[in-house]
Amino acid sequence: MEYEELRKQVVEAGLNMYRRGLTHETSGNISCRVPKKEKILITPSSVPYEEIQPKDIMLMNFAGEAEESGRNPSSETPFHLLVYKNRADVGGIVHSHSVYALAVAASRKTIPVFLDEMFSEIGGELVVSDYALPGSQELASNILEKLGDKNALLLANHGTVCCGKDLEEAFLVAETVEKICRIFVLSSMLGGVYPLPEEGIEYQRMMYEMKKEF
Ligand SMILES: [Zn+2]
Repeated sequence: MEYEELRKQVVEAGLNMYRRGLTHETSGNISCRVPKKEKILITPSSVPYEEIQPKDIMLMNFAGEAEESGRNPSSETPFHLLVYKNRADVGGIVHSHSVYALAVAASRKTIPVFLDEMFSEIGGELVVSDYALPGSQELASNILEKLGDKNALLLANHGTVCCGKDLEEAFLVAETVEKICRIFVLSSMLGGVYPLPEEGIEYQRMMYEMKKEF
């Protein structure tokens, strides 16, 4: 079996996503780029996370074809592929359906930068992509357009897309997104968040740009 170590990482990330309550049942999906190849590894469709084995992780090429027989790849494979094709800096993607992120995605509210980590981990405000049917090419295009060069995006009435240079970083982004959304929802009960003052945003932007150059 090719890429056994990477497959194990995908399995592990799926289990963590499920066990930490960032998704439920078989929803959500996880992928990583195969380094130096136009290929990705992605979780299979409709298999419970606690049952997925390394051999179930699907190897897909950039044309969207499975490179081996076995399971069906995640129905969201089109958007994963489009992001990898257009963002050379992305090595891992976590698509979660976590509760507070869904609450914000369902209300289609942009979250302004109100915590430092919104810049350091996401790259700015957290926006919501336009609605499109799950698994559609239209959803993939919407995601690419709204994601820009950021690491995270909410999908209208659906979930999140969280990216990182590798799967470990993408998973941390997914946890941060859920934390940010949770605080945003709680703050809304207290009258809403105050965005960071302009000087705070400028400072965080500068730190983020510096981090990206390293
Ligand atoms: Zn989904």
